[in-house]
Amino acid sequence: MAERVYNFSPGPAVLPVSVLEAAQRDLLALPGVGMSVLEISHRSPPFERILQETQDNLRTLLAIPANYKILFLQGGSLLQFSMIAMNFLRGQKLPADYVVTGTWGKKALADAKLEGPARAAWDGAASKYDHLPAATDIDFSPQAAYIHTTSNETIQGVQFAAAPPFAGAAGKAPIICDASSDFLCRPMPVDQYGMIYACAQKNAGPAGVTVAIVREDLLARSPSNLPGILSFAVMAENNSLFNTPPVFGIYVVMLVTRWLLNDVGGLARMEELNREKAKLLYDAIDGSGGFYQGHAHQDCRSLMNVTFRLPDADAEKTFLKGAESKGLYQLKGHRSVGGIRASIYNAMPREGVALLADYMRDFAAGR
Ligand code: PMP
Repeated sequence: MAERVYNFSPGPAVLPVSVLEAAQRDLLALPGVGMSVLEISHRSPPFERILQETQDNLRTLLAIPANYKILFLQGGSLLQFSMIAMNFLRGQKLPADYVVTGTWGKKALADAKLEGPARAAWDGAASKYDHLPAATDIDFSPQAAYIHTTSNETIQGVQFAAAPPFAGAAGKAPIICDASSDFLCRPMPVDQYGMIYACAQKNAGPAGVTVAIVREDLLARSPSNLPGILSFAVMAENNSLFNTPPVFGIYVVMLVTRWLLNDVGGLARMEELNREKAKLLYDAIDGSGGFYQGHAHQDCRSLMNVTFRLPDADAEKTFLKGAESKGLYQLKGHRSVGGIRASIYNAMPREGVALLADYMRDFAAGR
C-alpha cells in the first residue's frame, strides 16, 4: 500500500482504511456477483441488497423511527438548500425561519429566499459566527413552515448539541437540520427533527450522494408540479430509484455504516472517541498561553472541525509547512476565514490527532 499521510481535509475527507480496502477489492467483483457495483443495474437484486443494507445500517445506528424515510439524493447538500425550499416553502404564506450560525446556513437561507418567504431568525455574522444562540436569543416566527439549522458549521467550527437546544421554543414547526459535517459523529434524536440531511463526503462516504432522513407526514407537502427528481415525495415513493442513483456512493456508505456498527461499536462509542480526539487539540490550544486562538467559543466547539489562528499569517504559513513535513496534511483554514482548520472526522485515527497536538506544542515552544 502507498504510504498514507494524516489527512485533515474538511471534505472530501479521510475514510477508514478497511473501507477503502473493501472497495478496492470489490471493484473487480462483488463477492458472489462477479461484477462490480459500477457495472450492475440499480434495479438488480445485488444492488437492491446494497440499498437495503445501507438503509438498515443507518436506521440501526441512528435509531431512526419507522415513520421516517431514508433517501439517497444527488446534487450535494447545496441542492438540498433549494430542494427543501421548493418542497416545503414554495407557494407558502408562512415564513421559513433560518438559524444562521455560519457560512453554510447563510448560503441555505440565500437559496431558500429564491423560493419563498425565508428569513433569518438569528444570524451570528456580527461576531464572525464564533458562537451559537440560546433558544431565547432566536426570534422565531409565531408560526413557520419550518425551521432550518446547521448542526455543525464546517468552516467556523461551531457545533450544536445533538438535539437542537431550541426544540421546545420552536413551536410545532418541523426542524430541518443540515448535518453535513457531523452526521454519524454521535447519536442524534431523529424524532426531534422533521428532516436531517448530509452530503456523504465528510463522515459517511464519497462525494456524490446525500443522505436525507425525512418524516413521512412532511412528504405530503411536496408540490405535485415539481419535477420528480426534485420532489421528496416522488423520491420516497420510488425508494430513491426514480432514476439511476449514485450507486458507488451508496455502496461506500454501506461499507462505512458497516464499519461504524461492527468495528467501532455504534455511535455512542464513536462519540466517546471523537470527544477524546477533539480534547487533544482543544487542550493544545488552551495550554498554549494564547499562542493559538480558537475561533469558536468554548461551549460550542466542534468535535469535527477545530478552527484556530496563530499570531500572524507568516507563522501560519510556517506552521502548515512544518506540519506537512510530519505527515499532517490539509490543515489550511477555509479561504473565507483563514487560519488553521483541523477536520477530525470519524475516520481520522487518534494517532494522527495526537501527532498534531504534539506538533502544535513543539511549534509554539519554538517561537
Ligand atoms: N453544508 C455544510 C455544513 C457543509 O459543510 C457543506 C460542504 N462543505 C455543504 C453544506 C455543501 O455540501 P456540498 O458540497 O455537498 O453541496
